[in-house]
Amino acid sequence: MSSCIPAVIAGDLLKKESLPSRQVSALQSKACSRHPKILIENTAGSGCNLGSTFEELQSIRLQASLPIGFCLDTCHLLAAGFDISTQLGLRRTLRQADELLDLDNVELIHTNDSKTPLGSHVDRHENIGEGHIGIDGFRRILQHPKLRMKPFILETPVDEDGDDRRNLDLLKSLSRR
Ligand SMILES: [Zn+2]
Repeated sequence: MSSCIPAVIAGDLLKKESLPSRQVSALQSKACSRHPKILIENTAGSGCNLGSTFEELQSIRLQASLPIGFCLDTCHLLAAGFDISTQLGLRRTLRQADELLDLDNVELIHTNDSKTPLGSHVDRHENIGEGHIGIDGFRRILQHPKLRMKPFILETPVDEDGDDRRNLDLLKSLSRR
């Protein structure tokens, strides 16, 4: 079982001089046997948030004395400037992620379309296929050989009854070859 925290919080937690010991021990306790690994999630890079680049995520991992893996959020990737909506952009993003993070360390994908465009640095989740990643973008993501065996979790908005079900059914259909 894994816990997932945004990189911006992880970055703060690593500044130990500003960190209450209660928070240090809470973080460390998550790495004990019940929670063997903490997943750091990429951010959209709004304001001065850490964790919108693979370099920053890797730096957090290297500074931590805890077992760290990664969660990549598709909406945050696009908003941070990784064009995963196109075939070429997805290929470049995954190559860079593999070089810097090692895709084996990416344990989870948060699957959200983005209300805001590429590089907006604004984190607004959208229903699958209705945002700037789009249907074809998600089809390529779900069917990519390096991603297709990873767990995908929806974090899309629920504005009407059944939105979750519709998003899930769409993801399932897009994942079929
Ligand atoms: Zn997320």
